Amino acid sequence: MTTSTVHAATPVVTGVGASIPRRYRAAVVHEFHTPLTVDQVTAVELAAGQARVRLEACGLCHTDIHAAHGDWPVKPSPPFVPGHEGVGIVVEVASGVTEVAVGDRVAMPWLGHACGSCDYCVSGRETLCLDQKNTGYSFDGGFGEYAVAYARYVVAVPDGIDPFDAAPLSCAGVTTYKAVKVAGTRSSDLVAVFGIGGLGHLAVQYAAIAGGRVIAVDIHDDKLALARELGAEFTINAAKEDPVEAIQRLGGADQAIALAVSPRAFEQAYGSLRRGGTLVFVALPADNDVTLPIFETVINGLTVIGSIVGTRTDLREVFELHGAGRTTVIRETRALSDVNEAIADVEAGRVTARVVFNVAGTPS
Ligand code: NAD
Ligand code: ZN
Ligand code: ZN
Repeated sequence: MTTSTVHAATPVVTGVGASIPRRYRAAVVHEFHTPLTVDQVTAVELAAGQARVRLEACGLCHTDIHAAHGDWPVKPSPPFVPGHEGVGIVVEVASGVTEVAVGDRVAMPWLGHACGSCDYCVSGRETLCLDQKNTGYSFDGGFGEYAVAYARYVVAVPDGIDPFDAAPLSCAGVTTYKAVKVAGTRSSDLVAVFGIGGLGHLAVQYAAIAGGRVIAVDIHDDKLALARELGAEFTINAAKEDPVEAIQRLGGADQAIALAVSPRAFEQAYGSLRRGGTLVFVALPADNDVTLPIFETVINGLTVIGSIVGTRTDLREVFELHGAGRTTVIRETRALSDVNEAIADVEAGRVTARVVFNVAGTPS
């Protein structure tokens, strides 16, 4: 009979003031349309079901800019910390939490919490739950050194995936992966992707993975060059030629995915469809109206459909594809203290694809 010595585990005292600092840096929106400030914010104790994450990386989604501007009909309440592409390490869990453990690397996506029991939640449509909370919008998000998440709604980042790649995949990736699913792209379909930014550079790749032949549309040539590198067969600069005419010359798109923050681009995406085609609404411009003709929609048998982020399962699939080497994330790393410059650069189209903040990095 062998004997073994059992060592009592060294007790680790967690919680604010123990292993968790009482204060940490975060970028805060104090008022819509005013620059964010990087403040020392106070850590709060965890509530039931929550986990604390020490962030490594957080992407800057255009949604964070809409949030900081109060662009949408449903607005966040300042002060708040944006960021829903946060990735980091779990450092503390509330008692009773079993979904994650201290030391796990997780993503904190837009769907921060849902009720778990409504028709939408139980039928694989949790992103439609009426009782959802959104990370970086209805509770503080990933633009800080720490954040509190709901353990059931974080998604594990598989070993081997760089956290700076995982960050954009957590919104830009899952959203466009889902949009291509919703579009129903099948092999040889012609897919027009309008807007080759953070979302679009990944949409091009998912449409190609689904078997589509991809047309990339943007108003900046460098983004179109990137789209070609990532698998687009055709590119159209909508500032130089009419994308509707150009795409109709190719036979019309079976699917068009609207990712540009411009209602005009939605109308062009609609106009680019062939008969029986599908237009997927994804971008959320502040100007909330588009004009689409009834007659042509009926006669041409067109489908117009909205697509909102993706489920936890969609995100797991996105990570799996990335882990298998099927996708490339194009991103540039910046310090959190550069948040306002980064926002200005995204708005001006000066960022090739995605900015990812090194939230744990250089102090402001
Ligand atoms: P982004 O700024 O990185 O990309 C937008 C791209 O559109 C840029 O490359 C820009 O050059 C291009 N563009 C601008 N005007 C254009 C035009 N007229 N024609 C063609 N291209 C044009 O933004 P992003 O982070 O990719 O987000 C895009 C939009 O999607 C935002 O409105 C964001 O809020 C929204 N979004 C929606 C969901 C969802 O679940 N539905 C999820 C994430 C983001
Ligand atoms: Zn987003
Ligand atoms: Zn629900």
